[in-house]
Amino acid sequence: MTETFKVWVRSVLTLMFRRECLICHRELRGFEKNLCTHCVADLPLSYTWCSDKSEADLGFYGRAYVEKVTALLIYRGKFKELLYQLKYKGNVSIGIMLGEMLGSRLFLQQGPAESSASPKKYLVVPVPLHWRKRMKRGYNQSAVLAKGVIKNLRERGIEARLCQGLLRRRNFTQTQTVKDRLSRWQNVQRAFTINPRRLRRLQEPLHFILVDDVLTTGATLDACANLLLKNCRCTVTIATAAFVP
Ligand SMILES: [Zn+2]
Repeated sequence: MTETFKVWVRSVLTLMFRRECLICHRELRGFEKNLCTHCVADLPLSYTWCSDKSEADLGFYGRAYVEKVTALLIYRGKFKELLYQLKYKGNVSIGIMLGEMLGSRLFLQQGPAESSASPKKYLVVPVPLHWRKRMKRGYNQSAVLAKGVIKNLRERGIEARLCQGLLRRRNFTQTQTVKDRLSRWQNVQRAFTINPRRLRRLQEPLHFILVDDVLTTGATLDACANLLLKNCRCTVTIATAAFVP
């Protein structure tokens, strides 16, 4: 009886505290978090940080002038699950983890001049959700990623802080399937506004890092970057957890 009880307790504990890899569902070892070592090694990294003319950068040619576009992963296959977990399953921990990994790929090519006299202070701006959507979800997934980005940058001695409430999403983006390309673009460009009072409190020149979860057509990030560039003297860098090539 006692032996059966012990086995039962152990099974319940294992079930309760079992941590498994989000991708392959293998049981995680003590030092692993969210993903097992095998899946971390298999992550489809985009290497957009290795070149100034990566596919992600080229997608912004002729659009808002941004300094650099960095995406951590290529959005494909089983790894889409990570973004799904962050966006729809309340898995904030994976968002912080991806954010930290993304942060570690930013500003790798900065020369020694950057680290001298007056180093840049970065304002990390998550692409805003409409307030109703954020209430429903309980958080903005881009803000979660932004926190991870900031954590990593600070660890590397780069000054960065979260800047929320500067951009606002004015309306729910309507279902985009029926509209043509131009009206879709115009629709997204009109979807965001800037908070002038919030902007006045910031001292120029400003250095923004715009953070979003997935870079698809780039219309959203283009709209946000345009809005920042139009309203103040600033530079804009884009950082996303994934991109659709
Ligand atoms: Zn795994």
